[in-house]
Amino acid sequence: MTTIAFLGLGHMGLPMAKNLVDAGHDVFGFDVVPAAIQAGRAAGIAVAETPAEAVAEAEVVITMLPSGRHVLDAYRGSGDVAGLLSAARPDTLFVDCSTIAVDESRDAHALVEAAGHRGLDAPVSGGVVGAENATLAFMVGGTEGDFQTALPLLEKMGRRIVHCGGAGLGQAAKVCNNMILGISQIAVAEAFVLGERLGLSHEALFDVASNASGQCWALTTNCPVPGPVPTSPANRDYQPGFAGALMSKDLGLAEAAIGLTGVDAKMGLLAREIYREYADGPGASKDFSGIIQTIRADSASGGTAR
Ligand code: NAD
Repeated sequence: MTTIAFLGLGHMGLPMAKNLVDAGHDVFGFDVVPAAIQAGRAAGIAVAETPAEAVAEAEVVITMLPSGRHVLDAYRGSGDVAGLLSAARPDTLFVDCSTIAVDESRDAHALVEAAGHRGLDAPVSGGVVGAENATLAFMVGGTEGDFQTALPLLEKMGRRIVHCGGAGLGQAAKVCNNMILGISQIAVAEAFVLGERLGLSHEALFDVASNASGQCWALTTNCPVPGPVPTSPANRDYQPGFAGALMSKDLGLAEAAIGLTGVDAKMGLLAREIYREYADGPGASKDFSGIIQTIRADSASGGTAR
C-alpha cells in the first residue's frame, strides 16, 4: 500500500482522499481551513498539523487546491510555512489534480523536477458526485513511467483515466473539453428559448435534437429545461451540478490558453464573457445550465447587444 499526502480536503479532495483510505492506503491529509480538517478527521483521514508533516513520509503527494497560485505557493512554501517540495523525500511523485492554467501547470512541473521529484498534472471531471462515487475522469500529463506509477491510485478515485501526453497536457485536455461544454450549453439554451418563441414544445425539440445532429451532453444529460431529462439541474431550480462560477473559472483558463497560443477562438471567448457575467450575477452558485434563464430574461427585454 502507498503512503500518500493529500493537500486540500475541500468539496472534491475530501471524498477523493476518503476513497484512497477506503482502498487501504495510508493517507495523511492537510487543509488550511479548520472545518475541512475536522471533516477530514470525521472521514477517517489522518490529518497532519502542517503541510511538511503531511508529506514527510509520503511516496505520492496529491494536491486538490482552488487555483494555480495555491498550487505554486504550496509547492514553494511561503513565510514560515515550509514548501511541499523541500519537505518531501527525494524522488517523490507529485500529482496535482487541481484545475489550473496550462502555463502554471508547466511551471509546477519545472519546480517539481528542479527539486529532484517527479510530477503529473491530473485534473478531473465528474464533479463532487464523481469524487464521492470514485467515477471521476482523469486527464493526465507527464511521463509514461510516472503515469503508470500513479494509475493504480487514480483508479481508486476514478473510472476513466487518459494519459494525454507530456507536462501540462492533462490541463490542456481539460480546458479544451470545458470550452466545448461552455459553448454547447449556451447553444442548447439559446435553441430552447428560440423554440419557445416559435411555439415549439420543449419535449418536441428534445425528441428531435437528441436524435439528430444537435445531440450533445449539454442537451441529453444537462438539459437546461425541466422535463425531458428528469435528473438534469433544471428540474431542481438549477442547483449544481457544475456551478456557473466553476465554468467561469475554467473558461478563464481557456481564455489564458487562447492568449498564449493566438488561436482565433471567437466562440470560446464569447462563452467566457457570457459565463463571467453569469457567475458575477445569479449564476455563482447555480448550475451553469441556468444560463438559459439569463437568455430568456434578456430575450423578454428585447435582447442584449453583447
Ligand atoms: P474547494 O474550495 O472546496 O477545496 C479546496 C480546498 O483547498 C479548500 O478546503 C481549501 O481550504 C484548501 N486549501 C487552499 N490552500 C491550501 C493549502 N495551501 N494547503 C492545503 N489546503 C489548501 O474546491 P473544490 O471544489 O474541491 O475544487 C478543487 C479543485 O478541483 C479546483 O481546482 C476546481 O476547479 C477543481 N474541480 C472542481 C470540481 C467541482 O465540481 N467542485 C469539478 C472538477 C474540478
